[in-house]
Amino acid sequence: MEFGSLWRGGLPAGGSRRVAAGERCHWGAARYMPFEGTLERALTLYRAFMAECGVRLPTGYAPPLNYCIYYECRKYYSRAQLLKCLDYAAEAGCGLLYMDQGWEDYFSSGRWDETRFGPIGEIVRIIRARGLELGGLVGLHADSYVWPHECRRKDAEGRLAPGDRWGHWVGTCPVSETWRTTKTRRLLSVARGGMRFFSFDFNDGIEPCFDAAHGHDLPLDLWEHALGVARQQRAVKEAAPDTLIEAHCWRTSGSAYWPMYVFQGGHDERWGFEFMWDPFADLKQGRLQRLYYYNLAYEKPLYLHIDLAKDSARQIVFWYVVSTVRHPGIGNYSALSAERQAAVREATALYARHREYFTRGVFSGPDPLTHVHTLPGRGALVLRFNPQPQPSSGRVALDAGALGCGAGGGRVETLMGAPVRADFREGTLQAAYELDAESALIFRVVPAEG
Ligand SMILES: [Zn+2]
Repeated sequence: MEFGSLWRGGLPAGGSRRVAAGERCHWGAARYMPFEGTLERALTLYRAFMAECGVRLPTGYAPPLNYCIYYECRKYYSRAQLLKCLDYAAEAGCGLLYMDQGWEDYFSSGRWDETRFGPIGEIVRIIRARGLELGGLVGLHADSYVWPHECRRKDAEGRLAPGDRWGHWVGTCPVSETWRTTKTRRLLSVARGGMRFFSFDFNDGIEPCFDAAHGHDLPLDLWEHALGVARQQRAVKEAAPDTLIEAHCWRTSGSAYWPMYVFQGGHDERWGFEFMWDPFADLKQGRLQRLYYYNLAYEKPLYLHIDLAKDSARQIVFWYVVSTVRHPGIGNYSALSAERQAAVREATALYARHREYFTRGVFSGPDPLTHVHTLPGRGALVLRFNPQPQPSSGRVALDAGALGCGAGGGRVETLMGAPVRADFREGTLQAAYELDAESALIFRVVPAEG
């Protein structure tokens, strides 16, 4: 049996728990919230409740547009390749060079690879001179013996247990205190060197750990595993609060096993559900639209980077992602034609001029292809998407109040795409639009004076 409130039980992977006849179990609290109206309304009510519980947009949240070098450099690269990507990132209008994996001497060591890149302070100076910051990925298990013996995962016979499915074969036990304090010390040293963003990934808790010296259940239970990962993450955040931290799942890579509301306080943002590989196909087939529903249900921002080569000529994916992911990243700029590169520069410049609507605006929208971002006193941005291979036209009707406009309505200004024909009638904005194939349009609604 597995349902909503059973998450704390720490079930084995894909497993179940047997409840004997007459046995009493505590399943946690279930809360019901009556409402009337649409699914959108239900989700925004849930979002407000979650915000009261602390699952919210961080104060002063202002994430950069990342440039993710993974698409060009994969897992291992030279200093020259890194600096080439810095050129792409600066040209594309990004604010942070995200090294993903590959910045360490060995995966998950938490140690900057000075042999390959030179001192971190020197690289950070070069990157900052171009107007960018530096970020990197943090993993749990290792591909080499980079942790003291007592940090390793042990099987029932006391042998070294493997790490994960991704080739990080030296298992690390996140309950080990030596690991927690050493990892925190190493990451803080990198943060002091100038790394401003960490993405915590590859936290797989697949293999159990039987080392009694770690002080956990035998074998290690999944909940204790996740707690260990989250505790270490929190130690970094508390000691370096200015470091932006994104948390992948504390138990798996990519997917989200635990509910969004656990472990608040150790991170600023969550991972955008692995839509980094082929987001255009995800949009065409309806999967990317989950990001719309996520934003209705949670204020907590997401981080996601995309491959610019996996987008339509009119960049519908770029706009869908920046509209649903408050901390976006792009990559693979070098794979584009000169014409497409120019289009990316135009898009990132338009995004930068209106960034605050995307990063801090209140998100709403009547359907997955119509998004609204409202800022108090500053009206709203509206985006409409056409993922079909042929042009489309239609009309959207939006409540003036949700657009930040009073009874006086407002002025509509098309920022991208064919100009919309809009007017306010009885507290509703009616906007008629025409859209090219696989494209997005954006218009801004400015409240009328007084
Ligand atoms: Zn252990």
